[in-house]
Amino acid sequence: MQFKVKEIPTKGLHRDRVFAQKIIEECPITYEHYITPGKDYLKYNALGVGFGWLLPIYKFSKKLEEYNTTAEEAARPAQIKEKFGTLRYYLNWTTDEINDWMGECEAECSKRCEYCGGTDRVQPTGGWVKNLCVNCRGKRQK
Ligand SMILES: [Zn+2]
Repeated sequence: MQFKVKEIPTKGLHRDRVFAQKIIEECPITYEHYITPGKDYLKYNALGVGFGWLLPIYKFSKKLEEYNTTAEEAARPAQIKEKFGTLRYYLNWTTDEINDWMGECEAECSKRCEYCGGTDRVQPTGGWVKNLCVNCRGKRQK
């Protein structure tokens, strides 16, 4: 299934789940081990990080998928998570080229609110650190 960037879900309670599922479906080699037949991916966000970071992850995943279509052994995520307000995307193995793409992805995530993807005065919060924009920080404090 193909979808264009403009078709990325921007509304709805479960937009993160819908988007994560689309990334997995569009990159079936890269995320092969994330796919379990019969599992309902819309019950949770399979990639485990907030909606706001899924666009950079989508762009990175598309490059990785293209690389993997001709690679002898696919480079696949061993773990994807948020730590101290930054994206950590660990691969089973990597190359300098892939590390460059991943560096761009992590840098883009650091500029974006993990919740909404906004870029307005994004900074890590105190306490349980999240990288959030001014709007989402305000909502979170209520
Ligand atoms: Zn936000």
